[in-house]
Amino acid sequence: MAINIKESEEIVEDVLNIYPEKPRKNRQEHIGVNKKDACGSCIAKSNLKSLPGVMTPRGCAYAGSKGVVWGPVKDVINISHGPIGCGHYSWGTRRNLANGVPGVENFMPFQFTTDFRERDIVFGGDKKLEQAIHELKGLFPTTKGFVVESECPIGLIGDDIEAVAKKTSADLNTTVIPVRCEGFRGVSQSLGHHIANDSIRDYVVGTGKLDDSQKTKYDVAILGDYNIGGDVWASMKVITEMGLNVIAHWSGDGSIEEMRITHEVNYILLHCYRSMNYISNYYNEKYGIPWIEYNFFGPTKIKESIRKIAALFDEHIQEQSEKVIEKYEPKMQAVIDKYRPRLEGKKVMILVGGLRPRHIVGAYEDLGMQVVTAAYEFAHSDDYERTTKELEDGAIVADDLNEHEFIELAHRLKPDLVASGIKEKYVFQKMGIPFRQMHSWDYSGPYHGYDGFEIFAKDMDLAINSPSWKFVKPTWKK
Ligand code: SF4
Repeated sequence: MAINIKESEEIVEDVLNIYPEKPRKNRQEHIGVNKKDACGSCIAKSNLKSLPGVMTPRGCAYAGSKGVVWGPVKDVINISHGPIGCGHYSWGTRRNLANGVPGVENFMPFQFTTDFRERDIVFGGDKKLEQAIHELKGLFPTTKGFVVESECPIGLIGDDIEAVAKKTSADLNTTVIPVRCEGFRGVSQSLGHHIANDSIRDYVVGTGKLDDSQKTKYDVAILGDYNIGGDVWASMKVITEMGLNVIAHWSGDGSIEEMRITHEVNYILLHCYRSMNYISNYYNEKYGIPWIEYNFFGPTKIKESIRKIAALFDEHIQEQSEKVIEKYEPKMQAVIDKYRPRLEGKKVMILVGGLRPRHIVGAYEDLGMQVVTAAYEFAHSDDYERTTKELEDGAIVADDLNEHEFIELAHRLKPDLVASGIKEKYVFQKMGIPFRQMHSWDYSGPYHGYDGFEIFAKDMDLAINSPSWKFVKPTWKK
């Protein structure tokens, strides 16, 4: 059923009316009602500072760099440089899976921190950092490098981590990458992505070489897939069956060694535009490597993406790709036949980071569901330009949607499913609304690729049609 534009506009007005004049004016610019032909930034302004005291769902630049971009690179040691909190809270919480022997090829199961104390704030932490890198090299000699992820105090006390990186890198003959991702920089995780991309550009890109005998005309790199619950593995299965040769995947189950040779590929396939468009553009400018965006959520988008990718290559790849589509279509139809009748017409509200609020819409639509709200934590105007086209007219589009607005919108829209993060999960469940975590896949997944869609459909059905929702209200209050 079409969404009533006027009703949506009234709902947004109503939710904003709780604010005093000044914050209302601010938030009004960030929430709008979708019209496919409108400009995205006209509907929602973005990438601006959060209002103080409104419970933004956003994180910081450290989360964007260490948590998202660098964290999943398994053969380096990420040092959370600063006090204990940031490293501890981000330890093992993002489900970017990786293969490899822990402590030998894969350092992701550990938390490495310089654990700042007051004396480090007073006297500076450069010496401590140098000592930590030496100590870690001794304990883990097989590491392929170190990434120094700055937490808030580092930039404030005037430490020179670049100098430490240069010195330790020369002393130990290894790669040490200083990253200025202090949480006070920028307005969200987003600047952390950019800073991390730039550090890869400055310290990694072009430092390796792919053996000429190993090169093929079908070499590609996947960028912006963090292998949540095995997403990159499910995507690689499809891309490999198409006949392409994935020589690097960033950064889910990825390695710095792959990053070093990525400039040798013929095409970059970009899943998360927000977090890795910077480095993709750099590859294009410096090495002339074209990049294209794709979407591996749900069979409709997967099919479109396979054809879009195949069109870059010769007939051999195009034929192979059609065979892949042919092979999986009956399986996908079986999934749709099973779950669509159970999910048809259900309304979804989404609040996630910088990609999924638009990317996952097609997968819901494949199941007959309707996205009535798509909200981002840290998207930019170019993401909103892409979002308007994916959503139906009348859907509510929101930027940096805070907890009050989210809850109030849900009261009015009465969704059948809320798809968001851990901070939101239990609030909505207590409201009696089915919920799925759309960052961690609620410890399920993968959701990418053909294998992922089957799991996605099953999970949405489990959440929405769980008998537990019937028992939220005690019988004597019904
Ligand atoms: S804002 Fe600062 S203290 Fe907080 S998590 Fe980010 S880096 Fe750490």
